[in-house]
Amino acid sequence: MRIPLISGNWKMNTTVSEAIDLVNEMRPGLDQIDNVDKVICPPFISLAPIKELIKGSTIKLGAQNLYFEEKGAYTGEISPLMLAELCKFVIVGHSERRHYFNETIEVVDKKVQAALKVGLKPILCIGESLEENEAGKTEEILTRQLSSPSARIYYFSGLILAYEPIWAIGTGRAATGKQANETIGFIRQHIASQYGKGIAQQVRILYGGSVTADNIAEFINQPEIDGALVGGASLKASEFLSIVRQTSEIKGRLSEES
Ligand code: PEP
Repeated sequence: MRIPLISGNWKMNTTVSEAIDLVNEMRPGLDQIDNVDKVICPPFISLAPIKELIKGSTIKLGAQNLYFEEKGAYTGEISPLMLAELCKFVIVGHSERRHYFNETIEVVDKKVQAALKVGLKPILCIGESLEENEAGKTEEILTRQLSSPSARIYYFSGLILAYEPIWAIGTGRAATGKQANETIGFIRQHIASQYGKGIAQQVRILYGGSVTADNIAEFINQPEIDGALVGGASLKASEFLSIVRQTSEIKGRLSEES
């Protein structure tokens, strides 16, 4: 049984004091919810104060990006070692980074490797653009993104995948639960064909793209979907709480039924 996971990607939002306020608002509710890994990914500068704030809480902390070198003359970058002291998770290869910061499959791969090396759990984002989707190229694009130079069994056993169709991110136009389930099913099959059924059944695969408290149930009710990467809706404490609560209830019910 894969433990469901909901991760909030705060992107470039919240000052340090706003981030602290948001955590204070969500913490009591989140701490009452079991059976879901609850991860928040604030901007880098808020990681250290939030780490202190959530001591004794069940909330887990993640970063939104990292550089692949351990240290050195890379002005403005944040290394895996720096993050490992502060958090357990790191989002890698988000489509906004691939798009705005020209992150290639090779760079994303190096970042995944660097994160795994220091014990961070990468949340590796993959997904197709609208044009690729409309041209029927979704599976081809995902296969390419999953076939990074160093992908091996240990690679998939150490990370979490997030299927995020680019056309659904921040657009208010989510995929349907059925669409997302089918595509995530394809991803799992692909991993099984390359690395074996055992690893494919073990890896957690999230859906991301305009998830809200109103549509989370549609995704979480699907057997292949293990949780969600949530952008905009993770910045509202009550909405994030509702997403996590519904996930816990639905996956709890599904596991009792199976
Ligand atoms: C994201 O940032 O990964 C995301 C899915 O954003 P949103 O939920 O706002 O679409």
